[in-house]
Amino acid sequence: MRKMVAQAWLLALFAGVFLAPSAAAGAPSPPPDAPSILAGTAADLTWLEFEAAAKSGAVILWAIGSIEEHGPHLPLATDTYVPANELARVQRTLSAEGVSSIILPPYYWGVNHVTGAFPGSIHIRPETMSALLQDVFQSVGRSGFRDLFLITGHYDAAHNRAISDAVRKARLTQGPNVTFVVPAALGTRIGLTRGEPGFAFADLPAADPNAPPDLHAGKTETSMMLAGAPATVRTGKIARLPPTRLDAAELAVWRRGQEHARALTPGGYLGAPAQASAALGETVLADEAAAYARAISAALGTRQEKARDTSSRTQPNHGRTASRSEASGGFAAVAEARTPTLQD
Ligand SMILES: [Zn+2]
Repeated sequence: MRKMVAQAWLLALFAGVFLAPSAAAGAPSPPPDAPSILAGTAADLTWLEFEAAAKSGAVILWAIGSIEEHGPHLPLATDTYVPANELARVQRTLSAEGVSSIILPPYYWGVNHVTGAFPGSIHIRPETMSALLQDVFQSVGRSGFRDLFLITGHYDAAHNRAISDAVRKARLTQGPNVTFVVPAALGTRIGLTRGEPGFAFADLPAADPNAPPDLHAGKTETSMMLAGAPATVRTGKIARLPPTRLDAAELAVWRRGQEHARALTPGGYLGAPAQASAALGETVLADEAAAYARAISAALGTRQEKARDTSSRTQPNHGRTASRSEASGGFAAVAEARTPTLQD
């Protein structure tokens, strides 16, 4: 009897520790049908498939997102879902042009200065993020890939300066060609100049200059999530969110971040989410992805021309880009490579 009691007690303990729901009653849980953002990325390849893609001349695409509060209606990973969705579109466009590509799992530990005072905005020190990005660049290069293109899903200036720092340092090493494909307006805001090696400005459709600022979890971003990751959107909350009305001076204060941002936008959004629609989101996602694809195609095309110029000259080549392209057989290898099983 005593033995039975002991066994029953052990069983109860086991059930309590291992079988009880992991979250306390009432705690939030993600929607059960939320999509996997690893789907379609290199994370689902084997090492042999990854190696084969590198040998075929495929380029690497990588979204640099963040985990950051996005109002009461959007998930913390909004700035990761959006660029991941755009890269899938970029990949299809490049494929149609004969350029094969592999998408890395999205990076999501970003630098969150502006919204850092909100719960859920996970802040990574810029130097930590830069070092991690550089390590990934090196690993990707050692795997045999020669070209790596980054896009950002998170427009915090400090986040994008960390990316820029990693790209500049990577260009001083013997790793792959790394290019940050940056929206032109954002690039200008953080002090980049068009034409700097390692950076390709993407000319995204401009926002209406007369419209009130819609910068964070507002009309545009909510629309993109309704189109790209609808299962993650708390649609029942959107209609009740009043628009924020920040003037230029308040916007400047908001950008100083932390408690300034939290005081000016206590709901965690800046814009008019109630005006969002999936149709608008589909248009914005398609337009931005097209702009990124154009910038990547242009960067690869420029490299192809440099490689051709260099190979037609007899003098030694000191150009980093051209020498790498020559060693790999030039851009033609990329343009001819088609690995449909690794795409879409
Ligand atoms: Zn965002």
